[in-house]
Amino acid sequence: MTEFAKLTVTLTEPVAVVRHLRNDFRQESYDHIPGTAVRGALAAQWLLAHGDPDDDFLEIFEGDGVFGPLHSAASLPVPLSVKVHKYRADDDCRVLWWDAIREEVDVCQYCKQTLEFSKGGPIGKVRRTPRTRNALDAEGNARSGNLFNQSSIAAGNVFEGWLSGPALRSLRIDGEPVRTLSLGGKRTIQGNAEVAIDFGAEPEPVELVGKDVVLRLAAPGIFVDKLGLPAAEPDLCELSKVLGVKVSSVVKSWPRWTEVGGWHLASGLPKPTERAVQAGSTYRVRCAERPSEAALRALMVRGVGLRRREGFGALCRPVAPLSFYEWGGVLARLRADMATVERTLPQLHERTRELRSGIENDAPFQDQLARDDQYSIALRKLLDVTDPVLYGRLVTRLESGK
Ligand SMILES: [Zn+2]
Repeated sequence: MTEFAKLTVTLTEPVAVVRHLRNDFRQESYDHIPGTAVRGALAAQWLLAHGDPDDDFLEIFEGDGVFGPLHSAASLPVPLSVKVHKYRADDDCRVLWWDAIREEVDVCQYCKQTLEFSKGGPIGKVRRTPRTRNALDAEGNARSGNLFNQSSIAAGNVFEGWLSGPALRSLRIDGEPVRTLSLGGKRTIQGNAEVAIDFGAEPEPVELVGKDVVLRLAAPGIFVDKLGLPAAEPDLCELSKVLGVKVSSVVKSWPRWTEVGGWHLASGLPKPTERAVQAGSTYRVRCAERPSEAALRALMVRGVGLRRREGFGALCRPVAPLSFYEWGGVLARLRADMATVERTLPQLHERTRELRSGIENDAPFQDQLARDDQYSIALRKLLDVTDPVLYGRLVTRLESGK
């Protein structure tokens, strides 16, 4: 019986986990917290409490436990099996995703636009801190050559992820659950975060279509063939073992190659780059019979392939974003309190202008967000839209009452 824990992390400071360090000091940073960063942050706390790495450390951090990536609904990758509009969807388009796992569609039935496969980018936009900032050293002085450009995920973002196996032991220090983490490490802007751990949480099962299991990667996957050479598909023997049923073939796959590096925790040295398939890669694999619910849940947290302890091969079940048409339901919940909506319209419109300049300011809405009702849930959803064009159109639609 594998044990799981669900980690919910709320950033109290901006965080940037950097993808590439480029020599022009402009950086690309992730929209989520990769498993390597989660593992690094927990390892740093362990070392602070216990001193030098010992056998226990190796079992927790270099053993067969899993430190999964932390994602929000917006930061998960659009599966590569999903077709999307090539250009902006019309207001009347009721659907934004067509999944080739289930249907072969080439044209949107509403706007007649040709569709194209996703490139595996994030589903939505996470809130970012739009300013150039310096990386600070322990004394609060700017480190030379560490000027970062618009690369931090803003404070307030909430991300979730899973740990399993011996990795769970990293979540308690002297018997007490970890409550804060300093996410980051080498090559990153560190940020503090509040942590909530649910030791009893149950992961979602991996998706089933008939007897076929659908694997959608939330992180790059590292697979090898029998000769140890890079492979574009997960190993069928590995899957058969985890699912407890014979997995006979990969029926269809939507992979894309990428490269991954990493840090070796105990030595603090960079790892060599490996070939991997990128997050969003999707596989439909055929099973001889339907796997058990428990096996599907265990697979979701375990992931597939190599270096799973660093979060590689993590799986997910992303949900399609709402179409403009589907936003009608959210706007209706706001309109149920039309008096408040009318009073708030000037601030809601002002936010469109702010979003265009990269500002996300929730302060004018704090009282309403604190309400414990459908209105506050709907308002949170609306304020989570950071695309100024979509947001502006939604506010106009809210105002017009359509
Ligand atoms: Zn359309």
